[in-house]
Parts: sequence; C-alpha cells; structure tokens
Amino acid sequence: MLNGKTALVTGSTSGIGLGIAKALARQGANIVLNGFGDVDGPRAEVLEAGAQAGVRVAYHGADMGRPADIEDLLRYSTDQFGRVDILVNNAGIQHVAPVHEFPVEKWDAILAINLSSAFHTTRLALPGMLSAGWGRIINVASVHGLVGSTQKSAYVAAKHGIVGLTKVTALETATTGVTCNAICPGWVLTPLVQKQVDAKAEQHGVSNEEAQRILLGEKEPSMQFTTPEELGELAVFLCSPAGGNVRGVAWNMDGGWAAQ
Ligand code: NAD
Repeated sequence: MLNGKTALVTGSTSGIGLGIAKALARQGANIVLNGFGDVDGPRAEVLEAGAQAGVRVAYHGADMGRPADIEDLLRYSTDQFGRVDILVNNAGIQHVAPVHEFPVEKWDAILAINLSSAFHTTRLALPGMLSAGWGRIINVASVHGLVGSTQKSAYVAAKHGIVGLTKVTALETATTGVTCNAICPGWVLTPLVQKQVDAKAEQHGVSNEEAQRILLGEKEPSMQFTTPEELGELAVFLCSPAGGNVRGVAWNMDGGWAAQ
C-alpha cells in the first residue's frame, strides 16, 4: 500500500516509534530511523519487516531537542529518498516531579523534544507534501494529551500542546491531500514506562509483575498494556485511503483510560 513512499519516524530506535516504523515498512514504505542507542538492531528489524517489499532504511541521529539537528535530519531524508511523505513525530521523554519541584532544565527539554520538535519537522516537511498533493503527519501524543496526571506537568503540557498543533495543522491542510492526526496511547510497556514500573516496585516493595498491575489498575480499565504493534496498525490505517478524511483527531488507544 505504501510502496514508493518515505516515512520519517522520529525516536524510532525503541518502543512505539520502532513498532510504527516496522508496520509502515511492512506496507512498503522506505524508512528514515532516528533516535539514540543501538541502531543496528532496530535497522535489522525494520529491514526484515520490509524485506518482501524491498524497502530501504536510512538513519540519522538528530537530537530532536535541537532545531539545527532537525533541519539537518529533514535535509538528509530528502537527499536519501527525494521526499518525506509520512512524518511520524514520536520522539519523547518523561520526567516525574511535583510542579513546584520540577527541574527547570527538564521542563525545557521535555517541551523541546515532545512538542517543539513536531513544529520544526512539520514546518520543514509540509511544503514537500503539499506540492506532491499527498502526505500524512502522525503525532504520537498520549492520553496525557487529553487528561492530566499528577507529577507530569511538563509532559502533560507538551502532550496537550501537540494535540493543539495537530488540530491547527489539520485545519490548514483540510482541503489538500495532506492529513494530520494525533495518536494517544495509554500505558505501553516500553523502556519509558518500565522506569515508572521500577519506581512503583521500589515504592511498594513488590515484584515487577505486581508493580505492572498497580500501574495499570490506577488508570487503565482494560488492565492491559497497549502494544507498539497495535499502534503501528493504527498508523497504517491513518496512511490508508480509508483514512484520507480523518483530520485533526486525537485518537486514543488507551484501554478506556480517558473514558472514565
Ligand atoms: P522509548 O523510550 O521506548 O523510545 C523513545 C525514543 O525516542 C527512543 O528511540 C529514543 O532514543 C528517542 N529519543 C529520546 N530523546 C530523543 C531526542 N532528544 N532526540 C531523538 N530521539 C530521542 O519511549 P516510548 O514509550 O516508545 O515513547 C515514544 C513516544 O510515545 C513518546 O512521545 C511518548 O511520550 C509516547 N507515549 C508513550 C507511552 C507509553 O506508555 N510508553 C504512552 C503514551 C505516549
């Protein structure tokens, strides 16, 4: 379905971004990976997912907190594949602390990586999509783009912000072949959330499994983690012809979290 298209997925060396990159590669899209840590493992996984379609995979290590790096990432993606057709703004970090104790540098980093990076990638990728007459921008927000939780002032502010950016981008492109939507996961068991499971295990003196149950029980009625594979399939739907008139939504996949 996505043969000949190029998808840039930020923060795709791990977790949700990697799951989305694999799902898009399975549909035939060439992939630009981005993120920190091991690159060879994720690259091999994406190549394998796209092997039947003969997809190509490139990597750029831009720090999504730095606008100059982001400009370089977009230039590199265009040099590699001609154009960015699908932009998945996924890179994100978390820090938990009460608002009056929240470290200022953590606030700045979370706003830069989780929110401003999506503004920069969007402003740089959109002109090419508009001139091609087709494009998909998928912002990985969070259920925290819809509701708040204690200790997460920067994260919740950034995620509400990216839902707002999604709506404005969708409105400005509403009469074109470019769509912009947000995906709002509940708990997904990635390294980002494992840190919060570890903190619960320590706080309550319980096992990893029990800490997972406590975490889910506080927020997620299904008592199940959403998976990167499920989120990948949602991204594929948004890229499909059937998703062509889905515009400006914040689509939660959260086990009922925001329904409460
Ligand atoms: P993760 O820690 O597994 O992956 C984060 C990815 O972002 C990694 O590839 C990491 O290298 C990359 N990254 C971090 N800082 C970066 C930077 N400055 N520049 C470039 N890349 C950077 O986390 P995840 O859980 O897969 O989270 C991915 C996105 O999903 C985030 O935006 C997060 O807020 C969102 N999300 C996660 C959950 C969850 O429960 N895990 C729920 C809702 C939303």
